[in-house]
Amino acid sequence: MSGSSENMKQLNQILQALKPKHTQLVAVSKTQAIERILTVYETGHKTFGENKALELRDKQATLPKDINWHFIGHLQTNKVKYIAPFVQLIHSVDSLKLLVEIDKQARKNDRVIDCLLQFHIAEEAAKYGLTVAEAEILLTSKQFATLKNIRIVGVMGMATFTHQEAQIRSEFKQLKQIFLQLQTSFFKGQDTFKELSMGMSGDYLIAVEEGSTMVRIGSLIFNNK
Ligand SMILES: *Cc1c(COP(=O)(O)O)cnc(C)c1O
Repeated sequence: MSGSSENMKQLNQILQALKPKHTQLVAVSKTQAIERILTVYETGHKTFGENKALELRDKQATLPKDINWHFIGHLQTNKVKYIAPFVQLIHSVDSLKLLVEIDKQARKNDRVIDCLLQFHIAEEAAKYGLTVAEAEILLTSKQFATLKNIRIVGVMGMATFTHQEAQIRSEFKQLKQIFLQLQTSFFKGQDTFKELSMGMSGDYLIAVEEGSTMVRIGSLIFNNK
């Protein structure tokens, strides 16, 4: 079997696994060539994720306009302007400063941009994300209350890169708890706060079991083995 049809088989398996709980798939197309992305698009899948603003801007300009583009990587404030005209969801908000810039650029484009707060749940120090205390400061700040062109629709996190399933599971449980805590404290009665973005190629089945509403999968779909 060629690499590409092997990947399509993977894509179908993933979609089957996500069906029972209606978990959304973000196909992570970072570093992938336009032709590879089109192969997946032509199966009918329309939601893709990228982690570099300029790469995303260029791909959006080239690829079909009905793709829902998600931004999943660390976002620098000076790059927000490149994706603000079209991005559907930014998974990786980790500061008030970034949120203020997203709001500003969204307003310039006459849109409201959906965002997730990214939490640090992994053991590794290198991964980005807020602590619960930092999120509470952000959400109770006066400045946050003035932002009208962003909408916080949930949370995102990445588990430690490990084969220890128990650890991954406990980190996903922790993120779910953070989600529920914020929902109760800050988003009560707002049914738009509903997304729990967790799970990647290596751990998405655990994430789905732990209540993920959105998985971000790249290598399983795109990489030829
Ligand atoms: C690359 C990336 C993914 C996808 O990782 P895979 O292991 O290739 O599935 C998911 N989330 C983020 C934030 C990423 O940068």
